[in-house]
Amino acid sequence: MTALSPTLELACDLIRRPSVTPVDEGCQELMMRRLAAAGFALEPMRIEEVDNFWARRGGDGPVLCFAGHTDVVPTGPLQSWQHQPFDALIDAQGMLCGRGAADMKGSLASMIIAVERFVADHPKHKGAITFLITSDEEGPAHHGTKAVVERLRERGERLDWCIVGEPSSTTLVGDVVKNGRRGSLGCTLTVRGKQGHVAYPHLARNPIHLAAPALAELAAEHWDNGNAYFPPTSFQVSNLNSGTGATNVIPGELKAVFNFRFSTESTVEGLQQRVRAILDKHGLDYELDWALSGLPFLTQPGDLLDAVAASIKSVTGRETTPSTSGGTSDGRFIATLGTQVVELGPVNATIHQIDERVLASDLDVLTEIYYQTLVNLLA
Ligand SMILES: [Zn+2]
Repeated sequence: MTALSPTLELACDLIRRPSVTPVDEGCQELMMRRLAAAGFALEPMRIEEVDNFWARRGGDGPVLCFAGHTDVVPTGPLQSWQHQPFDALIDAQGMLCGRGAADMKGSLASMIIAVERFVADHPKHKGAITFLITSDEEGPAHHGTKAVVERLRERGERLDWCIVGEPSSTTLVGDVVKNGRRGSLGCTLTVRGKQGHVAYPHLARNPIHLAAPALAELAAEHWDNGNAYFPPTSFQVSNLNSGTGATNVIPGELKAVFNFRFSTESTVEGLQQRVRAILDKHGLDYELDWALSGLPFLTQPGDLLDAVAASIKSVTGRETTPSTSGGTSDGRFIATLGTQVVELGPVNATIHQIDERVLASDLDVLTEIYYQTLVNLLA
């Protein structure tokens, strides 16, 4: 058994703490101890049942933040796992196995080791390095990054660049970085009709018949063309319910749940207005209940994206591809501070799955990439 690298040692330590959302199980304590020893000022921020912390090292000048989460999603049935999810074993193929190996305790370990080395090599670095860590990214996420960002905003904290450790890579570490995310806008549509007997339709109003052509038009609508960074905005109905269960009753109501994943070419108000226009055109008696879960954000090529791309190139020889695909992440909250945000982490092929795993050597490569990015921005 050869000795593990410092990154893998720490990654295993973190994985062995079963921190299923929103429980932290001492992961943050461990990270904070390491950061304190590296000269960071620590600020634990427990908000309701969620542990978060903010850490800062440095003075005036540009601020680079490392952001991430210590919580993991539930394991699912333990008997389905090849190696127990919190054992953190490296298998014969060199894969580090365990819940959180890819999402995202591996990245957290790489960040800590990269920063420890960087401050040892450059004790008088430019600007400041910060950490924004939460234990509720996978859960409701009300008291996690979003709440910490509100506190930082209130006190006017400067935050120029942020690297979120989400697993952004597709097949090789660093092949893809996320430089933005689409927005997500959900809605429950209620269409009112009038209940009645199917044999007496003239005495009723069938909400299914009334809503069907309107839903067809919404589904066929072309919302925008997207742009260089975003695919076109998509509209999907996820739930459709009506009917009393009886075969001889025209129902009184129909409910449809739909979701927009939208690009920076569309706005919330614009989408809402166009939905209403289509429903009005069909003469429906309706109600809309909107839920905005995230605005789109985009980091254009600039200091951060350049520094990250150059560092991936110098460490791996690869040209990285910026992408805005995938679900939302905490990056959307941080971007509201005017911060350039990039997500860079290991391969995401097994995240949230049984037998989550990541190539162990990729985490050492990730440490090098983070280290080189620190050099490019703050040395
Ligand atoms: Zn994650």
